[in-house]
Amino acid sequence: MDCDVAIIGYGPVGATAAALLGGQGLTVAVVERMAGVYDKPRAITADHEVMRCMQFAGIGTELGAHVRPHPGTRYLGVDGNTIKQTDVIPPPYPLGWPTGIHFIQPEFEAMLRRAVARHGNVEVLLAHELVDLADLGDSIASRSGIWRGRRPARSERDISWPVTAPTASCAESSGSTMKTSPSTSGGSSWMRGSGGPRRCPR
Ligand SMILES: Cc1cc2nc3c(=O)[nH]c(=O)nc-3n(C[C@H](O)[C@H](O)[C@H](O)COP(=O)(O)OP(=O)(O)OC[C@H]3O[C@@H](n4cnc5c(N)ncnc54)[C@H](O)[C@@H]3O)c2cc1C
Repeated sequence: MDCDVAIIGYGPVGATAAALLGGQGLTVAVVERMAGVYDKPRAITADHEVMRCMQFAGIGTELGAHVRPHPGTRYLGVDGNTIKQTDVIPPPYPLGWPTGIHFIQPEFEAMLRRAVARHGNVEVLLAHELVDLADLGDSIASRSGIWRGRRPARSERDISWPVTAPTASCAESSGSTMKTSPSTSGGSSWMRGSGGPRRCPR
């Protein structure tokens, strides 16, 4: 499979990248080892800039109907006294959304995935784990296998994407080229230490 951008990991960050890049008309491949959305909420709060991003990703209205304004946070010490308090600002909101919101992560991720599915140029490989990355000079090749517990059972799909591709994914890059595959595979991914993915030039 050839694509402009390969996204490794389909958590909230990978799904956001897929929705945004798919919306820009790029061909995108997503590899995710889990078969579905992780069913436990980890993140529960976000801010108004996230909501703006979700508007661009195509789920602003749908998500907006499911979030609740954040009431602020009071941190208590062991003696019950307030040691820190964060307040939210009242309307009118500078970005059109409450500055802090509560959301339900599995519900939110499912919305994002439905937005991705609306882009015919994004292919999602669920239950696949990226197991190898190779720098071919002008392109990057990856290998993914069907995910069965801790180890992929067998090699299933090869994906390659050019080191230079037309893209809007790296806002800071000069010109219209990219030199990266977004590493969206979370904190425990082996890619963190592999040195494989390249970074956007600054
Ligand atoms: C208890 C808790 C509370 C939190 N609260 C908040 C909060 O209130 N607000 C907030 O903004 N954040 C919060 N966070 C952090 C938030 O959950 C994470 O920052 C967010 O989930 C990261 O998203 P991600 O897409 O980068 O990574 P992940 O959600 O970790 O997704 C990475 C994906 O990559 C996949 N993957 C990894 N390696 C491979 C591979 N080799 N091949 C294929 N797929 C692979 C994984 O299966 C996973 O689905 C909280 C986290 C925790 C644990």
